Amino acid sequence: MSSAAPQLPSPEAFDRLTEHIQTFRAAIPQHVRIVAVTKTLPAWMIRAAYAVGIRDVGENRIQEAIAKRAELQDLPDITWHYIGHLQSNKAQKALDSFDWIQSVDSLALAQRLNRLAIARSAKPNICLQVKLLDDPAKSGWTVPDLQRDLAALGSFKNLNIRGLMVIAPYGLSTADLTKLFCRAQKLHHQLADSLLLGSGFTELSMGMSGDYGVAIAQGSTMIRPGQVLFGERQG
Ligand SMILES: *Cc1c(COP(=O)(O)O)cnc(C)c1O
Repeated sequence: MSSAAPQLPSPEAFDRLTEHIQTFRAAIPQHVRIVAVTKTLPAWMIRAAYAVGIRDVGENRIQEAIAKRAELQDLPDITWHYIGHLQSNKAQKALDSFDWIQSVDSLALAQRLNRLAIARSAKPNICLQVKLLDDPAKSGWTVPDLQRDLAALGSFKNLNIRGLMVIAPYGLSTADLTKLFCRAQKLHHQLADSLLLGSGFTELSMGMSGDYGVAIAQGSTMIRPGQVLFGERQG
């Protein structure tokens, strides 16, 4: 994203997108939060989602999100979710620019975020990214590693640990997706019941354009659709 002039749609294109997002939204159960994933897309598309009531936006590049926030200062009630892999040295910037960090994927990163949060007297919302199937393309806790780290995570008093974030590997059958998301739901319940991570541990973020239906059927509380809302990504 360069500092070029904002990209603006024709009124027709704006209305078309708005109608499409409205139709999508109407088919999603009310209790499921829609985090509209707008990485690589222009800020006006966030406006279109906003126009039909979406207030959660997901981005995976810090600079890109900062530029869009600057363009959308007249929409202050958007909740910004970081969903990309976060390098430790960008943790401070991520806390400055996002309301949620959904992709916390290691104890070291959680510890760093907690320290930074203490220094600024903040209590950011985070999710723990878990990896329930081997996927070399993705980071995240395996279940045994997460069990090992639970007590330490629970001791990070300045993190509001809200739930789990799951990314399904590309190309699974519906049956395998169902199994995966079902395991995620069980793990989420088990962790919530243990209270080790606090009472705010209510969210299960799973479901993207290709698998949100299966994810909702298996108890997702938060879906992260991108292309199904906005069409193909740019760049
Ligand atoms: C890109 C991305 C999405 C959205 O993907 P789509 O296939 O466009 O719906 C959701 N979650 C994460 C973590 C992503 O990186």
